[in-house]
Amino acid sequence: MAAKTAVVAIGGNSLIKDKFHQSVRDQYIAAKETCDHLVSMVSDGWRLAVVHGNGPQVGFIMRRSELSAHELHEVPMDACGADTQGALGYALQQNFQNEFRRFKIEANAVTVVTQMEVDGADPAFGNPSKPIGSFMEEEKAKERAEKDGWAVKEDSGRGWRRVVPSPRPLRIVEESAIRRLLDDGFVVICAGGGGIPVRKDADGLLEGVAAVIDKDLAAALLATRLGADLFVISTAVEQVALNYGKPDQRWLDSLSLSEAKRLLAEGKHFAAGSMAPKIQAVVEYLERGGKEALITSPEALERAMAGETGTWIRP
Ligand code: ADP
Ligand code: MG
Repeated sequence: MAAKTAVVAIGGNSLIKDKFHQSVRDQYIAAKETCDHLVSMVSDGWRLAVVHGNGPQVGFIMRRSELSAHELHEVPMDACGADTQGALGYALQQNFQNEFRRFKIEANAVTVVTQMEVDGADPAFGNPSKPIGSFMEEEKAKERAEKDGWAVKEDSGRGWRRVVPSPRPLRIVEESAIRRLLDDGFVVICAGGGGIPVRKDADGLLEGVAAVIDKDLAAALLATRLGADLFVISTAVEQVALNYGKPDQRWLDSLSLSEAKRLLAEGKHFAAGSMAPKIQAVVEYLERGGKEALITSPEALERAMAGETGTWIRP
């Protein structure tokens, strides 16, 4: 029987546990915990492509860049994407390799620096919406807007942040390499942070753009392109809830595609910028012929794969 393929999108909590554990070493330890949970899928015979987030890490690089601007060049956003894909990919692939050795599993892991093509005419470029970088006081935010032309917005009561465009992911430039590595038995860490956004210039040549691609939408595209049997979104909650955070909150064991679309359209259940893009990503994957999707936490993954928890979404 041919091995099944899963695309697993891992969220911020797989790398940063809390604000007291943000160092490179702390992120490495957090990555190890998530790898521990994913290794059980590999030993069960799953071929895995892993897509990680990179929001806070891009923020750290930008802050360093900001603080040292009197002495060093600034780091453009596409280079921040590449830097974090490399550094986080390193932490993940080394942890996978060590776990495979510890559990005597015949497997290997590798990271692919991945570019994601977007449309230069995507309407997102006219409406920057994705918060990045450090939180700022309102006064500071308005100053940067004036001085550096930043678009800034208040972010869910937590403070002010810079916002950049979030165009739709259209084409995974390194898709064929990812496919071959999976065929060769590698766990492939790719499209980190949603991929480095690139567009084609007038001559058809690729160039980086200052934007952020939603990692869940990017992972959904990857899942479609690979014909994945399963799309997993691993995040900070074990299940998706209706009326999340309200007294009548209800955890969901399963959802049909049509229910998911209806609830998403109602607009009140899934927070914009967190759960809504995940449900949207799952809907897109299933509408393009995907088989099933699971939203759960790294800690609950084994139990979810055994059918005991998580939120399962099927056509
Ligand atoms: P990630 O880094 O994994 O992308 P996000 O913070 O972007 O994480 O999204 C996951 C978060 O979405 C959860 O931790 C939870 O706080 C929030 N959330 C919003 N709406 C819901 C909902 N309806 N059910 C469960 N969690 C929700
Ligand atoms: Mg998110």
